[in-house]
Amino acid sequence: MKHRDGILFVVSAPSGAGKTTLCKGITDSLENLTHSISYTTRKPRPGETDGRDYYFVTADRFRDMVQAGDFAEYAEVHANLYGTSKRVLDDMIREGIDVILDIDTQGARQIKSHFATAVFVFIMPPSMAILEERLRNRKSDREDEIRKRMRRAVDEIRDYGLYDYIVVNRDFERALSELRSIVVAERCRTKLLRNNWIEDLLR
Ligand code: 5GP
Repeated sequence: MKHRDGILFVVSAPSGAGKTTLCKGITDSLENLTHSISYTTRKPRPGETDGRDYYFVTADRFRDMVQAGDFAEYAEVHANLYGTSKRVLDDMIREGIDVILDIDTQGARQIKSHFATAVFVFIMPPSMAILEERLRNRKSDREDEIRKRMRRAVDEIRDYGLYDYIVVNRDFERALSELRSIVVAERCRTKLLRNNWIEDLLR
């Protein structure tokens, strides 16, 4: 019998802020915490696997899923569609498993209006100059793509007020430790406990 429902941790960041590595770091280092696998219409990158990184689907399949109400949230990001399965989230919450949603700010807004107890974390780069440098160091994006991501980063950072916590990723280990502390503290919140557990304890 679980003591509480699973918690949704929504983590957003501008591209290049180190969110993917941080999310992987935290799911590797904490028990009972899993990463929600999104559906996307974008093509897999080298090294990505269907069912592990994303469920890669066609635009038609994605639209059918939207029509069927399968998504807890979905959004268009960089001309591709991304969405989170409602069924998977509901199952995890019921089973008391905590879930990390690595989603953009549009998706975060939708989750906020449907899941009252979700926790929102924004990963901030230490400066715009460092963000640009990190994007350039990836060497995977063309100049116009880097410009586009930098413009989008400004819009995303302006949405910081949606989030409960800000983690500045200047130093990876420190950022990971802050993210871990957020998860650990949120797990101890009184309001999440299923009351019957306390009642049983007192019996
Ligand atoms: P990438 O294509 O680089 O893996 O992800 C691009 C952006 O899409 C990232 O900001 C990522 O957080 C966001 N993203 C990934 N999955 C989802 C999702 O299911 N919903 C939303 N709204 N954004 C997502």
